[in-house]
Amino acid sequence: MTAQETAPVSAGRGEPLVVLSGVQKHFGQLHALKDIELTVKRGEVVVVIGPSGSGKSTLCRTINRLETIDEGSITLDGKDLPQEGKALAALRAEVGMVFQSFNLFAHKTILENVTLGPIKVRGVAKAEAEKKARELLDRVGVGHQAEKYPAQLSGGQQQRVAIARALAMEPKVMLFDEPTSALDPEMIKEVLDVMVSLAEQGMTMVVVTHEMGFARTAAHRVVFMADGAIVEENTPEEFFTNPGSDRAKDFLGKIL
Ligand code: ADP
Ligand code: MG
Repeated sequence: MTAQETAPVSAGRGEPLVVLSGVQKHFGQLHALKDIELTVKRGEVVVVIGPSGSGKSTLCRTINRLETIDEGSITLDGKDLPQEGKALAALRAEVGMVFQSFNLFAHKTILENVTLGPIKVRGVAKAEAEKKARELLDRVGVGHQAEKYPAQLSGGQQQRVAIARALAMEPKVMLFDEPTSALDPEMIKEVLDVMVSLAEQGMTMVVVTHEMGFARTAAHRVVFMADGAIVEENTPEEFFTNPGSDRAKDFLGKIL
């Protein structure tokens, strides 16, 4: 079944926030994104799964223009993603991203990591940025680590700081690209718990993950990619119990 043949799943949670339409992306000869049609509604949690190399990271990276696209359009809250310049920086600030590697600034404290963006990009006063940062660090369970440096924290703690740092910019949507893949097993849950609570608070999220437990509990919709295309999208219940495509069946057979 192709994405076009799949009936759209009505999550019923508000208007379209991120809309990709006819998106094509090549890396030289490689057709990395093939005619991607994807709408993420406000408050919706979309989990993207698929084999390695299927284009999941590229999809995330196009949504905040870390990658350009060859054709098609991407809109955020009704506005076209600008190609460059100040307009791009402003729009990018509305898209929070959390990567597999935590990407914290090693020579800055946890608190500084979280306040840097709001102060530099949003022009927030230092005292206000710190107050907000401490609230966010409390929320993700690392408030008592604010004065430390990233290397003094565990991987799970660093990733929760990375989430707090993204949230400090008050993004309209959060993208997570395999946020727990680099973590030791005992730290995965503490990061997933933060993500589940974000989802429950109504954050719009696009999450690339192999954590099927998260997909089952938190996703409104699962998007399955293979070879640069969206092969199938469905509710988690339908997708896991009754995958429509052979590619998805094959993939689920390997990971479940
Ligand atoms: P996934 O995240 O699903 O594993 P990616 O989006 O990282 O897949 O990659 C999709 C395909 O695009 C892969 O074949 C990968 O090698 C290729 N690719 C990704 N980024 C680049 C790049 N910057 N230059 C060339 N090829 C790339
Ligand atoms: Mg990837």
